Amino acid sequence: MKKIAVIGSFNRDMIIQVSHIPARGETVGNGRFSEAFGGKGANQALACARAGGSIIFVSSVGLDSVGNQAIQQFVAEGIETRFMRQTDIENTGTAFIFVGDDGENSIAVAPGANEYLQDPLIDEASGELATTAFILMQLEIPFSTVEYVLDKAQHWQVPVILNPAPARSLSDAVLAKVHTLILNETEAEIISGEKLSEKKALQTITRQLIGKGPQIVIITLGSQGAYVASENFNGLIPGYKVETVDTTAAGDVFCGAFTTAICHDLPLADAVKFANAAGALATTKLGAQSSVPYKKEIEALWKKK
Ligand code: ADP
Repeated sequence: MKKIAVIGSFNRDMIIQVSHIPARGETVGNGRFSEAFGGKGANQALACARAGGSIIFVSSVGLDSVGNQAIQQFVAEGIETRFMRQTDIENTGTAFIFVGDDGENSIAVAPGANEYLQDPLIDEASGELATTAFILMQLEIPFSTVEYVLDKAQHWQVPVILNPAPARSLSDAVLAKVHTLILNETEAEIISGEKLSEKKALQTITRQLIGKGPQIVIITLGSQGAYVASENFNGLIPGYKVETVDTTAAGDVFCGAFTTAICHDLPLADAVKFANAAGALATTKLGAQSSVPYKKEIEALWKKK
């Protein structure tokens, strides 16, 4: 089976559900606390695997109980964990997440061990990485590592799917090395420098980004679905109507499911539809990895009109 490498973060998520997300200086009482595994890299790796992909996860966690559990859980999910490394310099990354009654969230992250996902680990994994069908990355690891992988991947001729989250501006040199760019609305505005509120902005932004190198650009639009642009296809693939509880990780699940679908040679529009179904299902449960859907569930929703 063709393999996908996901290179990225692993975090422990500390979640508090509250009536509304606290504003600056505000205390909101009556919260409900829970703990789960998260981190954009880990969420996307799990989403790829549960959608039916064969996954190698390259990550840095702490030499602590959370790091141990992280590796055990990913082994149990059938993910190749040989390059999930433990460091004694920092603890496993931690995120504090507030989720309001409307399902929206607000997040603060302490990267911890994720900062130690650096070039030497990529070099160690290079034998495996060079033979994968796709590499999927986000920006919760040092940016120098992301640039290093982009250079290496060009040499290996392995296409890179980049989800530039958390958002930051990207140089033309970086964009030129990306095969597929998946952005949410905030990321699209920051990277393109254009406002999404303007009429025709989706088309303008995706065309502008495609002009810089990526073959596919996807802008995810929450419940509306996703706008896709490539050489042969341009348009909105509508989302699915579901009972949303918590939107945490919807974007990650979209990226993971899309990567597995493309790796399994689904046509672009079908792969985005599959990813929309996966992203929608992720919003129906609380938490990040606890809400990642399996292939069967995704297919059941995907095939609905
Ligand atoms: P992010 O989580 O990165 O902000 P989005 O909110 O755009 O990204 O969500 C990613 C994808 O998840 C969307 O393109 C869509 O397919 C799905 N999705 C997100 N929110 C909803 C929702 N409320 N209802 C149905 N699908 C959703």
